[in-house]
Amino acid sequence: MKVLLGVPSADYEGEARTLWQELTSKVSPFPVDVSDADLEVFHGRCDDLLLTGDEASATLVFDVDALPDTTRRIPRLCLGQQLFARPHEIQLAVLLHEIVHIRLNLGRLRKHFSRGSQLEEGVGYQVVLGDEIIFAEARNRVAFGLLGLVDEIGVDRFMATQYAWLSTDYWDARHRNFYLDAQLIADKDISLSLRPYAAFYRLVALDLGLMVLKASSSRDQLVARRAEYVDALATTCDEETASWLERSRIKLLAFDPIPIEPDPDAYDELCERVLALTA
Ligand SMILES: [Zn+2]
Repeated sequence: MKVLLGVPSADYEGEARTLWQELTSKVSPFPVDVSDADLEVFHGRCDDLLLTGDEASATLVFDVDALPDTTRRIPRLCLGQQLFARPHEIQLAVLLHEIVHIRLNLGRLRKHFSRGSQLEEGVGYQVVLGDEIIFAEARNRVAFGLLGLVDEIGVDRFMATQYAWLSTDYWDARHRNFYLDAQLIADKDISLSLRPYAAFYRLVALDLGLMVLKASSSRDQLVARRAEYVDALATTCDEETASWLERSRIKLLAFDPIPIEPDPDAYDELCERVLALTA
């Protein structure tokens, strides 16, 4: 299976190839069944990263060699410029994180991935005007962020149980950037109907941190912040929504990423519920 690896420019190709080779020789079995010869490096714009500002991303794309057969998908990873400025151990861990996303998209979360692509396509065609566009943009961001939660839960649980060698620097960075401060959208852009869902996202990220982090100082911070979001959630939604979200939280955090066979659940109900909200 071909794998596409995007780098910001030709200057980074050598470094990216070395990183890939180091990872494929270090990690055995590799999360995805590929050989070094399958790697195809491309340079330039990676839209996924421009949109999110992340340092790396992973998805499945149409295989241009197979078109017009659009059922065949291949992995595409993108590495942003800022990743190359990070310590080597973190670069390796971030690349591995993205490869585990690919493993899940091809296997355990296959149904979730295709449902997500359908939802995204559908949303792209919605026509909104005036003030509604501002609300619709915020709503879509919250909806798709929530759709991605199960992926992050799967990747982190997989990494935490399978790769004990990962550096504490990697988990510290994850703690700062995601568990402690997961934010889908600026507070000023969150309208009333979206508030419980934005708080829910943060709550689940905090719970995920508590599942995978071992350092007690990090855990204490997560516990303190968690109390804030439990309150935020309680004050922004009605009882029906609160108990629906609680069931959803338990289900998401119980996602088991280890089996390889596809999970029959698409984990899309949160996203759909948010997409159906009105301003
Ligand atoms: Zn991720």
